[in-house]
Amino acid sequence: MTDISLNYDVVIIGAGAAGMMCAVEAGRRGRSVLLIEHNKKPGEKIRISGGGRCNFTNIHTAPKNFISANPHYCISALKRYKPADFINRLETAGIAYHEKALGQLFCDGSAQQIIDLFLEDMKTASVDLKLNSRVLNISYEGGGYQLKVDLSGRERDVSAHSLVIATGGKSIPKMGASGFGYQVAQQFGLNIIEPRPGLVPLTFDDKTLASFAALSGIGVDVRAMNERASFEEALLFTHRGLSGPAILQISSYWRDGEEIRIDMLPGQDVSALLQQARDESGGRQLRSFLGQLWPKRVAEMMSARLGIDKKLAELSSKDLQRVSDEINAMIVQPMGSEGYRTAEVTIGGVDCRDLSSKTMAATKQPGLYFIGEVVDVTGWLGGYNFQWAWASGWVAGQEV
Ligand SMILES: Cc1cc2nc3c(=O)[nH]c(=O)nc-3n(C[C@H](O)[C@H](O)[C@H](O)COP(=O)(O)OP(=O)(O)OC[C@H]3O[C@@H](n4cnc5c(N)ncnc54)[C@H](O)[C@@H]3O)c2cc1C
Repeated sequence: MTDISLNYDVVIIGAGAAGMMCAVEAGRRGRSVLLIEHNKKPGEKIRISGGGRCNFTNIHTAPKNFISANPHYCISALKRYKPADFINRLETAGIAYHEKALGQLFCDGSAQQIIDLFLEDMKTASVDLKLNSRVLNISYEGGGYQLKVDLSGRERDVSAHSLVIATGGKSIPKMGASGFGYQVAQQFGLNIIEPRPGLVPLTFDDKTLASFAALSGIGVDVRAMNERASFEEALLFTHRGLSGPAILQISSYWRDGEEIRIDMLPGQDVSALLQQARDESGGRQLRSFLGQLWPKRVAEMMSARLGIDKKLAELSSKDLQRVSDEINAMIVQPMGSEGYRTAEVTIGGVDCRDLSSKTMAATKQPGLYFIGEVVDVTGWLGGYNFQWAWASGWVAGQEV
């Protein structure tokens, strides 16, 4: 049975990074806000991110760090709400942080501090946060939204002037990820850019896996690249294939069936190194030369891939070319990826061409907003995805 109807200025679905930011901002502006979350806790991805310390932003955030069918869409929000704005929020709350490599900022302590800060701010801003709750039905009537909602086990009718979808992407279903936001977009006629997993480990066929098998757990600095992008970071061999930041980054630019190239000695010209070694000690085995370049097991794998059992002086110019190609541009052919089960993000989502970059609102459906990862804006690894969630949530929070 349905109880009396509840009225709010704003209903936000999804209490993740973007939804909580939007709720606080709208509440501070005096809007009555209902924030609906189907998990029993808000901000689960914040809690587990960055190894429990949340890489909450990147001080070098720029539009080039994002993937989208409409690369200009993110510019306005990122300009209006900058990494410094979020840092300022944490500093005011006394949350300590530090910079790791490449401008990535992490909490010194637990990521839970960020969730607690939002919970506190939502309380002050009189946001109604309902956990264990779900939306059963949405319709648009008489200039507003009518929702049938299961609020912690009680079915209620809720009406709102504005509806904000902040349900994130499809990554890690066991943490509450759902395709719900895409369904709402489609219900109201917005286009969806085909979602696919991003920042995800890549998997390989049995033969390739066998050649990596002895290396499981070993990391090396590489440059992973294809025609669209190139990242110089660590690669990690795993029992399923390849992972580590370099692989996660390039995975977002990889399409099924394509190869990727890995420079196993980034910044070093292997043919020059080989020439020099040959001039200095031509009697040395190639195997021994390779052994100098990496940890033993990596060198053995490279030696096995090359299959050239010769002294340096015996290498033909064809051999030299093969060695340098194999090291500076080793070609691997992923069979697939680990998929949404382990992907950190979902690439694609609600088509930005159907949204206003100034407000995050649907251009053809009044009062409907999409923020965070549900939108076709996906950041690189390194704090960019949270910065997009904060920025897009903040912008919508000024508008609803
Ligand atoms: C393991 C992991 C580590 C990560 N580490 C980082 C990092 O360190 N730095 C970084 O920048 N990014 C990181 N990311 C990416 C980042 O977590 C996301 O991009 C970000 O959380 C997106 O914010 P969001 O609010 O759009 O979505 P989410 O944080 O996913 O929030 C969406 C919320 O909506 C809820 N929801 C979904 N469907 C419904 C529904 N039908 N009804 C009600 N509620 C619903 C979900 O339960 C969730 O609480 C990481 C991701 C993963 C998976």
